[in-house]
Order: sequence, then C-alpha cells, then structure tokens
Amino acid sequence: MVSARRRLRCQSWPSAALAFVGCAVSIATAAAGSDAVSPVTACDRLQSESGPTIRVSEAQLRPAAGGLAAHCEVLAYLDERTGVDGQKFAIGLHLRLPEAWNGRFVFQGQGGTDGVLGSGDVQPGGGRPSALNQGYATVTTDAGHSNAPGPLGGASFGLDPQARIDFGYRADDVVTRQARHFIQTYYGRLPSYSYFLGCSNGGRHGMAITQRFPEHFDGVAAGAPAFRMPEKGLAGAASTQGFAAISPKAPDGRPILAQALSQADMELLSRAIVQSCDAADGLADGIIDNVPACRFSPRTLQCTSEKTASCLSAAQVAALENHFQGPTTAQGRRIYASYPYDSGIATEGWRRWILGTAPDSRVNAFNVSFGATLAYLYMTPPQAPLPNEAEAVYDFYRSVDVTAAHTRIFATSAAMPESSVQTISANAVDLSGFRQRRGKLLLYHGVSDPTFSALDTLDWYKRLTDAAGGEKATGEFARLFLVPGMNHCSGGPSTDSFDVLTPLVTWVEQGRAPERIEARAGATTPWPGRSRPLCPYPRQARYLGQGSIEQAESFTCAAP
Ligand code: CA
Repeated sequence: MVSARRRLRCQSWPSAALAFVGCAVSIATAAAGSDAVSPVTACDRLQSESGPTIRVSEAQLRPAAGGLAAHCEVLAYLDERTGVDGQKFAIGLHLRLPEAWNGRFVFQGQGGTDGVLGSGDVQPGGGRPSALNQGYATVTTDAGHSNAPGPLGGASFGLDPQARIDFGYRADDVVTRQARHFIQTYYGRLPSYSYFLGCSNGGRHGMAITQRFPEHFDGVAAGAPAFRMPEKGLAGAASTQGFAAISPKAPDGRPILAQALSQADMELLSRAIVQSCDAADGLADGIIDNVPACRFSPRTLQCTSEKTASCLSAAQVAALENHFQGPTTAQGRRIYASYPYDSGIATEGWRRWILGTAPDSRVNAFNVSFGATLAYLYMTPPQAPLPNEAEAVYDFYRSVDVTAAHTRIFATSAAMPESSVQTISANAVDLSGFRQRRGKLLLYHGVSDPTFSALDTLDWYKRLTDAAGGEKATGEFARLFLVPGMNHCSGGPSTDSFDVLTPLVTWVEQGRAPERIEARAGATTPWPGRSRPLCPYPRQARYLGQGSIEQAESFTCAAP
C-alpha cells in the first residue's frame, strides 16, 4: 500500500529524469524495510507546546495539495525578544511532519542572510524531488530575524549582538532541538537519521553544524558554502572597485558597472577560456573538467591597438585580473581565494552578481548588497548607519578601504564573541567530533560561481585533508564535488540538476560513499539532457573513448 502510494507520487514529479531519481529513493527506502510511521497524536495538540520560550502560532493538518503530501504543518517562534533599537526578534521554525513518515529528518538551510521563513521543503537549486513527499520530516528557520524592507533589510539585524549569534549558528542548534522534540511528540519516537541540506548561506550553516554541533546530524550536504562571508564581502568590494574604475558614468557621476564589459566581451572571454582549457581533460565538449590544469590569462585577449569586437582593452583586462585573482591587503596579504577561469562566465547568472543585468542601471549587481552586510554585519562594531538606499550602499562599497576594513574585521574583533569572526565564519577544519560520530559531509560547488569561489572551498577541503590525515581518510567522511560551468548553486552551461540527498542517505545508512553523482543539463544549456558524473575531488570526469558523449555512462571518474 505504501509503495503504491509512493509510486503515484513519483509520477507526479515534472521531469522524467527527476522522477527517476526520486523513485529510486522510495524504492531504496522500501527495500530497507522501513515501513512508514504514523502519528501517535493529533497535529493540533502540538499547539499546546507553547511556553515561556516558544510560541506555537500554527499546528494544522494539511491534506495532500499543491504537490505536497498530507502532513502536519507547524509554525513556531522561539526566544521572542526586543533587541537593539527596539527591533523585534524571534527564531522562526517551520516544520512539516508527513502523515506517512519514513523515520528521517531533514533540515533545510536558507540562502542570503536568512531572515525569511522558507517552505523548508526543497533541495538546494530547486526542481529536485521533494523531501517531504519522500516521507521526510522537514524543517527550516529564518535564523533569528525577519528581513526589513530596503537594501539594508537583510543586514540591519547585525546591529544586535544576539541576532548575529543566532544567525551565525545558534538558531541551527535551537531549531534542531525543538524540531526533534516535536517529532518525538508527534510520532512517539525520535528520527532514526537526521540530515542537513543547504546551498550558499545554507551551505555555511551546514559547515557550521559539522564544526559546532556534530551530534545533531548524520549527514550534511553543503553547496557553494558561504563559510568565509566577511572575506567574500571584501573580495566583492575589491572587484566592484576595479570594475567601477573602468565603467562609463551615469549623469549623477556614479559608474554604470553593467557597462564595464559588454555581453559580447564576456562571450569573447568565455570562448577563449574554453578554447584554452576544455580539451585538457581529453574531450572538447564545452566542459572544463580538469580545473587545476586551466592556466588561462585574459592578457591573451588584450588589444594591440584600439578596442575591437575581437579583443579586450588593457583596462578591461586589468579589471578582470583584479576580480579573478582575488583581493590582497595593501601589505600583500591574501584576503580571499582567486576565482577559476571557467566556461560559465558569460551567463546572466554570472553577470547579475558581478556587473548587474540592467544595461543602464548604476546599482543592479547583487555583489553590491555585500556593502550592507560589510557595514552592518561583518564589522564589529558595525559601521552604521547608512541611508536605506541602494545608492548609499553602492557609494560605501565602491569607496571602502579594503585593507582598513580587513583590519577592522580581523585584527580588532577576533576576541569579541559577537563579531563576524566568531559567529559567521565556518572555516575550522577540526571535524573530529563529526567524524567520530560517523557523520558524512557532501560538499559541492559550481566552478563558475561568481560570488563564492570554488577555489576557496577547494582550499578549505585541502586544509581538511591535511588535518584529517590524508586523502583516503578524509574521503571516508567528507567529499567535495566540483560542478564545471555551474554558477551560484545552479545555472550556467553545466549539468546542474542532481540530487544530493539520495547519495548522502546511501552513504550514511548503507556505508557506501558516493563514487560519482549523476547530473543532468537543463533546457537552457547548449546540450539539454546531457548527463555527466560529478566526481569526488581530486577525481575528474573522463570520457571512456567510446559511447555517446551526451551520456554519463560514457564517462568515468579518474585520477587527474
Ligand atoms: Ca572537456
């Protein structure tokens, strides 16, 4: 009966490829013999869990609708309080408890700077099979604050020291404990296995959990992790300042970042990178699998005389090098990793972060939003206030002294418990607690991610490898999958459609580490439907020399 219902749910998923992935999970679950668990109490009885530190605002049974299976939906607010400047704070919790529970729990980390209570039932990147529909109890949180309107809305909570701590890591702990309590009350037992999924800031939460609360989760999937957010904020400032210096100016004198490089310029650059690096993996297929071997320099495109469609000006080359090399202090100390030259940088997904997509707008690049978080959240004490206007944030970001800001963040605030160094960073490589409890960490990162550099995650992974006793020992509990061509969490000329939950569950529950993850290209890529294996670093996808180059089975994961 249970498997018949599961089969029906599988068929309701939009794409055949995804349905296959999702059904495979259900079948594996059924084969493991874990029959669905039913509730032992009424959903609305969870309302009575309200107390001095928690307000349950909703606990209601939801019939199957809107693509979601029947479940008990719980909304609750923990530790409600009034903070700095009279701001109201609480840690929001959004829990969904399926009527047919598979005995497992998934926590979905949110992107941005949190501040929004999401649905808690999607895998990062979207379009992937619903965890709730597979029988998981799912939860998410706003991490302790609610974003206000305007460009400062996702940053002004940084004025409140406790809100920084809640955002940094405490909400992960508080919400996990409370969700487990609700699960025990509703089903009469605790979950057999617990998982955490998140991309970007959600990936940061995932890393923070493995470092700070190793007891909570059996498996964590962290995508494009924002684990060095303040450093990235400084990298974005240096990048923005470099591109602003070569941008034409609007009538009000502000540089129009979007015009620093035209779409044709970016396509020229992307084509040259592919030409230079694509075949180094043995196959010219538009995908650069041998990332470490790509030694591209935009200087090869520099005009010898005036700028034409087939070359870049010296100023453009300098601004690109400034961005891709990553920032250093005035004393030459590296602040953030470099960015890899990759095939996915002529996309809207790249441009919207770095330059902005509106051709005549002064302030449209997502990167500029890091100006608000730099001032309000990364600096201790905050460099506030700024007027709540995009122009003011832009003016601050394109004029901030990167070296002085770096000093202010790291030299002066390292000892302050509420500083970003202490709260937001998830940069530690001592995962001994997580490893000891046999936890598994699955990391993934798009090589063409414009905002958080895949090379920064790779640097961290190498440091972890050194700390954990080498490649083999590390691969037993932590693996990194680079996704060539993929932008931030999704998009780009890449195979960006893949399921991380299934391989994570198999790793944790059956002890089989992911040797490859099958991934598929979407409709907007040059090769819709193409599939590839994603490989655990340092292995790379290699063509076997026969079979269709559109199919993953024609590829192996090989040592470089
Ligand atoms: Ca290739």
